[in-house]
Amino acid sequence: MNAPDNAALAVIKQHLIDPEVCIRCNTCEETCPVDAITHDSRNYVVNADICNACNACISPCPTGSIDHWRTVAKAQAYTLEEQLGWDELPAEKPLPAGAADIAVDAGTGAVATGGVPSASVANAAAASAEAPQANAATSPSSTTAPWSAAHPYLHLYSLKKPVTATVAGNFRLTSANVDNDVRHIVLDLGTQFMPLLEGQSVGVLPPGVDANGKPHYLRMYSVASPRTGEREGYNNLSLTVKRVTHDHDGRATVGVASNFLCDLKKGDTVQLTGPFGASFLMPNHPGSNLLMVCTGTGSAPMRAMTEHRRRLKEAERAVAGDVARGVVKGDSGRVTGGKLMLFFGARTPEELPYFGPLTKLPPELMDTTLAFSRVPGQPRAYVQDRIRERARDVAELLRGDTFVYLCGLKGMETGVLEALQEACSLAGLHWPAVHQRMVEEGRFHVETY
Ligand code: NAP
Repeated sequence: MNAPDNAALAVIKQHLIDPEVCIRCNTCEETCPVDAITHDSRNYVVNADICNACNACISPCPTGSIDHWRTVAKAQAYTLEEQLGWDELPAEKPLPAGAADIAVDAGTGAVATGGVPSASVANAAAASAEAPQANAATSPSSTTAPWSAAHPYLHLYSLKKPVTATVAGNFRLTSANVDNDVRHIVLDLGTQFMPLLEGQSVGVLPPGVDANGKPHYLRMYSVASPRTGEREGYNNLSLTVKRVTHDHDGRATVGVASNFLCDLKKGDTVQLTGPFGASFLMPNHPGSNLLMVCTGTGSAPMRAMTEHRRRLKEAERAVAGDVARGVVKGDSGRVTGGKLMLFFGARTPEELPYFGPLTKLPPELMDTTLAFSRVPGQPRAYVQDRIRERARDVAELLRGDTFVYLCGLKGMETGVLEALQEACSLAGLHWPAVHQRMVEEGRFHVETY
């Protein structure tokens, strides 16, 4: 009798990226240590001949679109060309007869027979089934939410079944005399169920098709409103959107989703998917501090978190007033406490989203430090420069029950991490240990593009 042809029947867990959820941020391609991930103008894809299922790309992915696996015969693994043509992931396909008994490592080709997968096949399968664990050595960001965060709703609406929101308002946040057009867009959900927490995102489906005649893929935007909505008592949300007129290399371009959103009029409709995001969430327990660092439109989640705390404080004050006047019995209903500290960078005050409302917030609610990089006659300042100037206060906060949020330009990550490290060492704190502990405890969240 002939021995089975192991090479033909070997089975792998093929690593795939979900094109319906991927926001094309390039994080996976940058992270992959073996260069197995590549992309064209449409999709990010994984080369099954190179991927070794090391999982380094899993936790940095902001959407979870990276964490998909299909059991396939190695000889029938999906090619790059096939993946580049996908609008959605394929269903699991049946294995060829006899293949189920032979497993092979993704990448290494090591074969295990008799239905017992080799260690790394088993690891890859286990990793895909569980939430990825934080790894401070490879990722500076927590992959778990703060322990006291509210439970988020996820993926209620998909590409195939989006929810329709109606534009309730579209307001320019930047001065009329600057080119930078950033908008605050309020979307009403009517009676449709889409609860959102501060730090979560929604997908926007721009209408129309791309140059290849395919529907535009979704773009993700962080929600700028708190869980109680942009306006309390209304089922609505807000987004912070910058009109994209140039690509990363400075060439003139028209950003599909951003221009669609920035041009919306009251009464227009928008197709949304989501909610997305299960870790970049705020703590709910009294006394928890927030240290927020953002640039430009990265301010969206910070605005949501700050507004949530502001409303809680208002409610707290009202309860305290009622207690003092004897209207209700009990304690003063302390629900918040904790400090808010914000470092916010923009080119000029005229280009800083929410500049007006932000500067009106009382200092007892939030300790705000702004950094402007292009004010004529002034030296360029970035958020990391301001963190250095406030090193003592920052380190004091990092010693306590503090949750860090970093959102905005990818380029600021390194500078901000270095500034935090310096602040810690000036205060006698060992940054690698502080950072690792915060990452593991769901207290260090990064969302940069
Ligand atoms: P921007 O106006 O281009 O930049 C904001 C500020 O950051 C400027 O002062 C800029 O200075 C400065 N900056 C540039 N490089 C820096 C660095 N290496 N370190 C520190 N600061 C630096 O910002 P934007 O266009 O609004 O971009 C915001 C980013 O947030 C985008 O990448 C966006 O995708 C991302 N984001 C947006 C949302 C959302 O919901 N809208 C959510 C999450 C993330 P100079 O230009 O003068 O050098």
